[in-house]
Amino acid sequence: MSLLTVGSVAFDAIETPYGKTDKIVGGAGTFISIASSYFVQDQNIISVVGGDFPQVTIDDLNARGINTDGLQIKNSEKTFFWSGKYHNDMNSRDTLITELNVLENFDPIVPEVYQSSSYLMLGNLSPSVQSTVIERLKVRPKLIAMDTMNFWMDIAMNDLKKTISMVDILIINDEEARQLSGEYSLIKASVLIREMGPKILIIKKGEHGALLFKDKEVFFAPALPLEEVFDPTGAGDTFAGGFMGYLASTDDLSFENLKRAVIYGSALASFCVEKFGTEKLLEINKEDILARVDRFVSLASFDMNVSVK
Ligand code: AMP
Repeated sequence: MSLLTVGSVAFDAIETPYGKTDKIVGGAGTFISIASSYFVQDQNIISVVGGDFPQVTIDDLNARGINTDGLQIKNSEKTFFWSGKYHNDMNSRDTLITELNVLENFDPIVPEVYQSSSYLMLGNLSPSVQSTVIERLKVRPKLIAMDTMNFWMDIAMNDLKKTISMVDILIINDEEARQLSGEYSLIKASVLIREMGPKILIIKKGEHGALLFKDKEVFFAPALPLEEVFDPTGAGDTFAGGFMGYLASTDDLSFENLKRAVIYGSALASFCVEKFGTEKLLEINKEDILARVDRFVSLASFDMNVSVK
């Protein structure tokens, strides 16, 4: 099945306790489409960059089978820039700079060849751009998933709630779930958020794994305990890319398969954090992913078949 990804394609400058980068390629759309390229052959991206964005990166995305007809290049403008600094626990960060640049007046174009996309992943971007893409698709995709962040809750809550009401799956982190619902308990938050529209909710908890909610069912996936988390930037997007890539490739929306997709997303995210930016994600292969999925399976399985005296 074909997957359409919408999301920022960006420059990031990152500071972690392990080091600091100059401007490197990042962006939600970039992380999502690289992660999902391990699962889907037929993949499209909608985004916008400035004339300062390296053509070689676009060529690399094309080489991975990602169609960039919907990636607009505004030669006289600058690419979206985000800078963040992680605290020592690596689970929390401060955004230092958000320069929207080309994203400020982004009007997404949906090329004709994208119209048949059956899975849609709305990565982090202005909620009005996310809903415009849904409106510009002539046929509603079979499944629409969406990610967002506190930045959009702070400045565009009404637009955000409208977009949330249009999607099937919302993927957010625990802090965002609390802000969106006004509830500290994630269980209570999961009920309130699903009343806003999405039937399925995933709450990511960084190094503490992820929760999947659908109807009365809940699934918890651990995060892999890693000796060193080098740079968590893009881990959430990479999770979403692995999750949607796996769903699009299997085309099975049963709860059991959603659980498997969560594990694939978690496995991809565990690679992402091992190096700065997209570096590690670009190095791995399918065997690496399968071996990591096996580690998740053994991490969470145990034998209850023992007699208790
Ligand atoms: P994550 O670590 O999964 O939350 O995603 C980090 C990525 O999101 C970075 O590569 C940033 O370029 C991108 N990003 C940060 N802020 C925004 C924003 N307001 N809109 C869109 N993308 C953003």
